[in-house]
Amino acid sequence: MPIWVRNVEGSSKKPPKPECGCEDWIDHWKRNQTKHFGNATCMAIGRLEPHDKELVGAHVWKRGDAAEQYIVPLCKTHNMIDPEKWFEVDDAASPVSTRKQLPCHVPEER
Ligand SMILES: [Zn+2]
Ligand SMILES: [Zn+2]
Repeated sequence: MPIWVRNVEGSSKKPPKPECGCEDWIDHWKRNQTKHFGNATCMAIGRLEPHDKELVGAHVWKRGDAAEQYIVPLCKTHNMIDPEKWFEVDDAASPVSTRKQLPCHVPEER
């Protein structure tokens, strides 16, 4: 079942750094997602070709959930979709909350 999302305004230009200890948002997604086990690829589906080569951990809103932002893997092109427009991502996008969670990276103490 596809999931409807839209980009968070301004997040593609200057995304905030993760505060959970993860290297970046793709790292955060990889550690916390539960449905995708191959290499991460852009999860945008529908009439949205072509994809860009560069992949980012994109900040999105999930339809029906205004409480928090989620991370899904999107290519640069689809991370630039107008924040007003809802689009579908694959079920394997397994949107991950931006909050710190147990699988997050814990930097080693020096
Ligand atoms: Zn994290
Ligand atoms: Zn794409």
